[in-house]
Amino acid sequence: MNLDHIKPDAWKIVEDHYYPDRIEAAESLFSLANGAMGQRANFEEHYSGKSFRGSYLAGVYYPDKTKVGWWKNGYPEYFAKVLNAPNWIGIDVFCNKEIVDLNTATVHEFRRELDMQNGLLTRKVTLSTLKGVKLTITSERFLALFQEELGCIRYTVALHDQAAEITLAPYIDAHISNNDSNWDDPFWEHKDQFCKDSFAALHTKTNKSAFDVCTYQMVSFFVDGNKSVAFSCEEKPGRVAFVHTKQLAAGQKVMVVKTGGYCSSLQQPQSNQQNHVYDIAVNALKQGFDELLQSQQKQWDEVWRMADITIEGDVKAQQGIRFNIFHLNQTYTGKNPLLNIGPKGFTGEKYGGSTYWDTEAFCFPFYMATKDESVAKNLLNYRYKHLDKAMENASKLGFSDGAALYPMVTMNGEECHNEWEITFEEIHRNAAIAYAVFAYERYTGKSDYLIERGIDVLVGIARFWAQRVSFSTAKNQYVILGVTGPNEYENNVNNNWYTNYAAKWCLNYTASRLDKIKDENPSEHEAILNRLNIHEEEHTQWKHIANNIYLSFDKNRGVYLQQDGFLDKELKDTSAISRDELPINQHWSWDRILRSPYIKQADVLQGFYFFEDHFTKEQLKKNFDFYEPFTVHESSLSPSIHAVLATTLGRVEQAYKFYLQTSRLDLDDYNAEVGEGLHITSMAGTWLSVVEGFGGMRIKDNAIHFSPKLPDAWDSLSFKINFRGAILQLTVDKETSQVSQISGDPVAVFLNGNLVKPSHKPVFS
Ligand code: BGC
Repeated sequence: MNLDHIKPDAWKIVEDHYYPDRIEAAESLFSLANGAMGQRANFEEHYSGKSFRGSYLAGVYYPDKTKVGWWKNGYPEYFAKVLNAPNWIGIDVFCNKEIVDLNTATVHEFRRELDMQNGLLTRKVTLSTLKGVKLTITSERFLALFQEELGCIRYTVALHDQAAEITLAPYIDAHISNNDSNWDDPFWEHKDQFCKDSFAALHTKTNKSAFDVCTYQMVSFFVDGNKSVAFSCEEKPGRVAFVHTKQLAAGQKVMVVKTGGYCSSLQQPQSNQQNHVYDIAVNALKQGFDELLQSQQKQWDEVWRMADITIEGDVKAQQGIRFNIFHLNQTYTGKNPLLNIGPKGFTGEKYGGSTYWDTEAFCFPFYMATKDESVAKNLLNYRYKHLDKAMENASKLGFSDGAALYPMVTMNGEECHNEWEITFEEIHRNAAIAYAVFAYERYTGKSDYLIERGIDVLVGIARFWAQRVSFSTAKNQYVILGVTGPNEYENNVNNNWYTNYAAKWCLNYTASRLDKIKDENPSEHEAILNRLNIHEEEHTQWKHIANNIYLSFDKNRGVYLQQDGFLDKELKDTSAISRDELPINQHWSWDRILRSPYIKQADVLQGFYFFEDHFTKEQLKKNFDFYEPFTVHESSLSPSIHAVLATTLGRVEQAYKFYLQTSRLDLDDYNAEVGEGLHITSMAGTWLSVVEGFGGMRIKDNAIHFSPKLPDAWDSLSFKINFRGAILQLTVDKETSQVSQISGDPVAVFLNGNLVKPSHKPVFS
């Protein structure tokens, strides 16, 4: 952890010093994306120091042949890897023919800023080259939210007190590799390239998965503000550079404006890709960098108007939440139903694939409350479209008759994960997918999705649980054996309380929705029974299992047991772990972790979070007080859930500590791993910790409720929610809380348990 690395600022992420040992961390933290493409904040110019180069394209992956020690039947054949795409940002700089490289230069001044308000990354460096020429590099870069194939760079080199020959050589390059690769397979095949005037394009195809991608650049050079056309095109197979060399006097500047990016076969057929990006590039350069930047600012402005959360009196907390909201909006825009939200988004390669249970369990509420309803629906449709694959996946493991097991991680609906204790056993993910159907119904008050599609997903999941339980004659109840709960520091356990409870809930919910459809719409009900081949006995059986599922409970302590045998552990809390052995996953053997009582992330407590209304506060208190002391929070998904639960218990200052942990996890690099990429999905957990935690937002009985609690460090908190077409704003300060309605029809709003009439606020003035 390097707490001084990033400077506190309400709207910016700022590094005001050159930290060669934090380059990879900064490359993650300053990442840019626009939902369709994204990249780590690599320098444009050559850098010979330690760096992790990465540029990624939404939905474009390589099916990397599975690599495991011992093969188990049921393992998938491949792991879908997020692909490092050809480099479009590169600009080589030569000063008197010497390549400019921060790693070998003497860096006098360095400042890098990510302006989250406008989605703009800037950097200013003053350095002396090895041969002693002093110059300043300024770069500005953004990925357009308004045009998903477009990225823009304005890059300037200014000489100080000496004359020198400066070459700027902006290039595109297909010679790239993946950090994460099982067999060092070549992921790309270079097909073709093109260069004319100031435009260049590379055509590549991914091996096996056959995605066509056109990478392009278009450039304009300027010397002291005057356009310069004296450049040439230099081509090698898979690499095209435009080379501009100029003898400059002391104090002179040379600049390149470069537009570039990608068009993949998910966006345009191969035959049209080059023309498509050419038109975009010509248009863009016609407009010029400043005008393009204005469009970018306008788009981000729109995002922030709805999604911003303001926290006054605590700049680090403010920076933390904006950082999280910024990256969530960069990662997923909800425009394309084929896409989803990867744990690392566009900032790294770890976790491969794109979709985990993280989407439904953590991200779904953020997009539902800050975007148009269609965005959350796209996320639901994504799983609906994968239902057949989930059934295939289940049948591969021996289930039948329409049972569906959604993958632990997927790109296209097929399972990619290959550790048996997770792939086959972390089946609670199925419940999160059903929970999102419920969350959408509760939030919107609409049953259209449920009737048309959601019920198919629910039935597939219910069928899975009905087959996955075993009847224990010893207990005279249904048990679920051999699972891994959300706490992955325990594997292959029996009767993980969270899994059993979630299975019970899925079975009940599915049966209750069918009953409801029957009451309200008998002909639709009939059609569903026929479509899904559901018989009365099956329906009855689901209810029977749900009513008779084993839920282990310790009467003395008044707590549910995370799994059978949890109390046999040596129950020493986390204070017994020496500080230098944290995180335990980087210091202890797996065997030691499994035998310990230590919990990676909320497990029983995740159940209390999802099913809050099923339990009393007293029950929550007992379970929270029992489990939290054993929790090491080594999953980024953990602190946020604890923050919400702590506020429910009125423990606001404890919640505040969890909030800082979740919101600044990456900024302060709590788990010493930010260089691998950001924790995008846990950022949605941060949003939950503010909105459901400190804001106390809940949806109950067709109404929205707020019960705000402000931590001491904050003077005020304010955020907006899009609830059933009404934009509401909660504002809380140390004395008062208030809900105002910004637009839309009236909706029922409760503040601290009282029905209130929101005051009207003018629309986004
Ligand atoms: C967590 C899982 C999560 C995955 C991807 C793991 O460390 O334990 O719950 O789905 O990361 O974020």
